[in-house]
Amino acid sequence: PAEERIRNFCIIAHVDHGKSTLADRLLEATGAIATSAKNAQVLDTMELERERGITIKLQAARMTYTAADGHAYILNLIDTPGHVDFGYEVERSLQACEGAILVVDASQGVEAQTIAVVQSARAQGLEIVPVLNKIDLPTAQPDRVAAEVQAILGLDCTRAIHASAKERRGIGEILEAVVARVPPPRAGSRARPLRCLVFDSSYDAHRGVIASVRVVDGALRLGDRIAFLNSGAEYEALELGVLVPHARPVHSLAAGEVGYVCGAIRALADAKVGETLAHAADARAQPPRVAPLPGYREPRPMVFCGLFLHDGDRFELLRDSLAKLALNDASLVYTAESSLALGSGFRVGFLGLLHMEVVQQRLEREYGLELVMTAPSVAYRVTTTRGERILVDSPDKFPEQSAIASVEEPFCAVEIIAPFDCTGALMELCQEARGEFGNMQPAGDGRVLLQYALPLGEVISGFFDSLKSRSRGYASMDYAPSDYRAADIVKLDVLINGERAAPLAMMVHRAAAQATGRRLAARLKELIPRQQFRVPIQAALGAKVIAAEHIAALRKDVTAKCYGGDQSRKKKLLMRQAEGKKRMKEIGRVSVPQSAFMACLSLR
Ligand code: GDP
Ligand code: MG
Repeated sequence: PAEERIRNFCIIAHVDHGKSTLADRLLEATGAIATSAKNAQVLDTMELERERGITIKLQAARMTYTAADGHAYILNLIDTPGHVDFGYEVERSLQACEGAILVVDASQGVEAQTIAVVQSARAQGLEIVPVLNKIDLPTAQPDRVAAEVQAILGLDCTRAIHASAKERRGIGEILEAVVARVPPPRAGSRARPLRCLVFDSSYDAHRGVIASVRVVDGALRLGDRIAFLNSGAEYEALELGVLVPHARPVHSLAAGEVGYVCGAIRALADAKVGETLAHAADARAQPPRVAPLPGYREPRPMVFCGLFLHDGDRFELLRDSLAKLALNDASLVYTAESSLALGSGFRVGFLGLLHMEVVQQRLEREYGLELVMTAPSVAYRVTTTRGERILVDSPDKFPEQSAIASVEEPFCAVEIIAPFDCTGALMELCQEARGEFGNMQPAGDGRVLLQYALPLGEVISGFFDSLKSRSRGYASMDYAPSDYRAADIVKLDVLINGERAAPLAMMVHRAAAQATGRRLAARLKELIPRQQFRVPIQAALGAKVIAAEHIAALRKDVTAKCYGGDQSRKKKLLMRQAEGKKRMKEIGRVSVPQSAFMACLSLR
């Protein structure tokens, strides 16, 4: 099809405002899928995604639509992940489009994520078509919400479409708006050397990597020698196709079109999201005839945790499972780590908390592993007194205080929308989390929009829960990693009977160190059983003890209460003790139950 008959667009929305339902309605209305009575959503493919109502993996669906002007159009609907953790992938998929349908729930109004996605869509220069969804609800106020969209987002809402994805109202109008208002791909680019943007890639056991591409310039034909410009890897295009929404092979894809490419590509690392695919000959020419598309960067893990097993014997299975997951997830990074208390495991890096939870659930569900995860932490940038700059993502790697010149921590830009009467409580919360105030403005319907810069480390440790409880559940929030700022971060050590308990060490802000140390010491006092001798428990910064407790010595013989005669009871008790020992870890002379470590790790 000619460029002027193609429209590439996506749907953007705050979670639960109806993006997936609307996507299904568009596919239905254009005959791409059969009208279903069930609300099974087509674009959310993974079981986990559907269950949680989130969209993790990007996909594209191609529809044919005959518009009111009598012409047949190819509409490519590009699905974007619905969560901040996948911000970079959202950006790449928006880059594959010329327009976006902005879905706003007419009974809820603009939420934090609405602002964030509109900002990214604008940054990519997309035409935004506002749709006020759920007008079937008695609480819907489309006119009020339209005014809000106009006031907060600065979008012209005079032509905003009133719709109900649930009741199939407004669907035809939306399709017409896509044709009339979303610009076609840039004309004339088919004569240039081939360049495709990889906006998604996934791994298939039979076909290798399947790369979803938007052809930006030129044309890609079956059998072409292709190269990825950032990784430098070369392959042959063995299969090309489009998703309608199920895979349909084609012979070529030209500028403006969206489809997928397979080339027996063995490593996901060769065809990462954001890559530029070109003809190998153009890439190899001296000087090269093509340049990579702008904006490529490596996935950057922001949140880290230790991953261990309840049953240490299954370590091999954990290693293999992680390797399999990583095949399909270029953002997942991990290195082996062994811990005295928890055995062999891995230090794993994630894009954010949701990504972490998804990986955890997949490991438990698909591979039957019982995991022990340490509390999540961020990576600090440490400059040593010798001038070295290192990235510290685990307390193990934190240098001695005397060797540290400075520490920087990751910050993020945060947007919060909440009822006006919560403003004070939420500003206090942000202050406690060491936030820097940015801006405050009315957000319509008695609500306020707060903008802060917050340390990511604070955001990932219980901030969401506090936000919800201090706003009676009404606040919505979105965040995006922004920059690194100087911070007074220290390593808090825990000593049991004078011995360092390495797995309990943590990186904290100096101002929070004492309270955290006290909490940890008090908790350990409860969790560690009495020993034959007095056991001091201390929290320390370097050599300086900042909190201390002790466990009094145990004197009684465990079998004393089994009045002499009952040998079988005595035996049973000793056996149970021996079994308990297996789950004990020795810190110096002290036996600490594994459960105590786990309780402390989750306590932070
Ligand atoms: P997403 O998170 O943006 O993908 O939202 P979904 O499409 O999963 O929809 C979230 C919830 O809103 C689901 O329970 C839908 O059935 C419901 N929903 C979607 N559109 C409408 C609508 O037009 N009216 C009503 N009443 N409910 C809707
Ligand atoms: Mg969805």
